[in-house]
Amino acid sequence: MNDLFFDIAVIGGGASGLMAALAAHDKNPALKIGVLERLPRVGKKLMATGNGRCNLTNVNASAADYHGDIAFMESAMRRFPPRVVMERFQTYGVYPTVEDDGRVYPLSGQASSVLDALRLSLAERGVAEICEFEAASLERAGKDWRVRAKDGREALAKRVIVAVGGMTAPSLGGSASGYRLLEALGHKVTPRLPALVQLKTDPAAVRPLKGIRYDGQIDMLVDGRLIRSETGEVLFTEYGLSGIAVMQLSRVASAALARRDKPEVTARLHILPLSEAETVALLTERRSQLPARPLENFLTGLVNKRLGQTLIKLACPLPLSTPASALTDGHLSALAALLAGWTLPIIGTQGFEQAQVTAGGVKTADFNPDTMASRLAPGVYVTGELYDIDGDCGGFNLQWAWASGLAAGEAAARPEANGEWGMGNSSLIDNAAEAAYLIRRCAPPSP
Ligand SMILES: Cc1cc2nc3c(=O)[nH]c(=O)nc-3n(C[C@H](O)[C@H](O)[C@H](O)COP(=O)(O)OP(=O)(O)OC[C@H]3O[C@@H](n4cnc5c(N)ncnc54)[C@H](O)[C@@H]3O)c2cc1C
Repeated sequence: MNDLFFDIAVIGGGASGLMAALAAHDKNPALKIGVLERLPRVGKKLMATGNGRCNLTNVNASAADYHGDIAFMESAMRRFPPRVVMERFQTYGVYPTVEDDGRVYPLSGQASSVLDALRLSLAERGVAEICEFEAASLERAGKDWRVRAKDGREALAKRVIVAVGGMTAPSLGGSASGYRLLEALGHKVTPRLPALVQLKTDPAAVRPLKGIRYDGQIDMLVDGRLIRSETGEVLFTEYGLSGIAVMQLSRVASAALARRDKPEVTARLHILPLSEAETVALLTERRSQLPARPLENFLTGLVNKRLGQTLIKLACPLPLSTPASALTDGHLSALAALLAGWTLPIIGTQGFEQAQVTAGGVKTADFNPDTMASRLAPGVYVTGELYDIDGDCGGFNLQWAWASGLAAGEAAARPEANGEWGMGNSSLIDNAAEAAYLIRRCAPPSP
């Protein structure tokens, strides 16, 4: 059996876990710190962030960009705001640049460079990375904590930072294991939903439009009531809708679709930035300007050609070769209604597999917002997406991962009032005899 002993064990080598390990070392370099990661490599999800560019943080981050228990975030976000996170990254060798809407990316343009910088910094500090260690249980072992892996390996640590993230993107590390680990310690978990996720509509309606995008407004309605609007890119896919504006609205759709009373969830697409009346006026003028133009090209130059043809087919039961002069006022009104607000029923989301973040999670009430420490399990800290906190697109989720990781790492490295770390390196168990003693001490009493 391969046994591991740490002052601080970080479960999960993602954004918040790697940052927590660095913060803990920088607070107390004498500590022995290990990162226990389920996958063969740490930081797999980080590599995929920001379409491979890693949208590190956002200089405009505010409470309005987050959902869930946002009051809990205040202390960590005040101490570790985007500016402080950016300064930290500079010390690790990453130069952040600010782009549109306050989004921050590494100057290299590579998410991999963010991960490299974090890993190099960990290696320079002697923090151990233990991969293919999938934590399956976390329990008290005397004064310490025992983390047992799925394959039977065990790690013992004085303090444990649980940084295993949410359920999204399982191939990049997402799993429900964090909820199970914490529920076993008495923590409560709220229902979880995929957020920042693509939406499904009737595929027949959108399949011909696959790959077409427009920049404009999209609304999300639940039982006909407008819940949220976004402006930005909307992309048609073979199953439905994607693009940043759609992802931003997806949390509302996801929550409504999960409701027991099954409300009607509808997306309203404003393909032209005009009211319905303005669009009728525009189309009427177009009909008189271009009377001979066949319907297949009546909207060409105004909207994407294929999108225009699809909308004409929906609004006017005429062959596409018909000249525009044959359009009645009724046809123009129907077409204007689609261009100014095409409504598509939303029938589902692409689920946790494709989502970027998990809405819902571990309830924050049983944690200290200054330190991320569990109030139920002293010595256990929780970070990042695992909490009932999620952000919009734009660098906000990573900002929370860094801020909560920094808060937890620094707190976990602090000595207790009774001088727990005062033992210095005697807490590091280096030899087999000590290891064997610890295993015996931690073994359950024989019946
Ligand atoms: C495709 C994609 C793109 C994204 N782009 C952005 C972006 O540009 N900007 C932004 O702000 N946010 C982005 N996000 C969201 C952001 O990546 C996450 O919110 C953030 O990584 C959460 O950090 P975390 O430390 O809580 O969890 P994670 O980064 O998910 O790390 C958790 C780690 O724990 C490991 N783990 C899981 N279970 C166990 C276990 N039982 N034992 C040991 N290890 C375990 C996982 O393998 C993983 O390495 C994106 C997400 C996705 C999926």
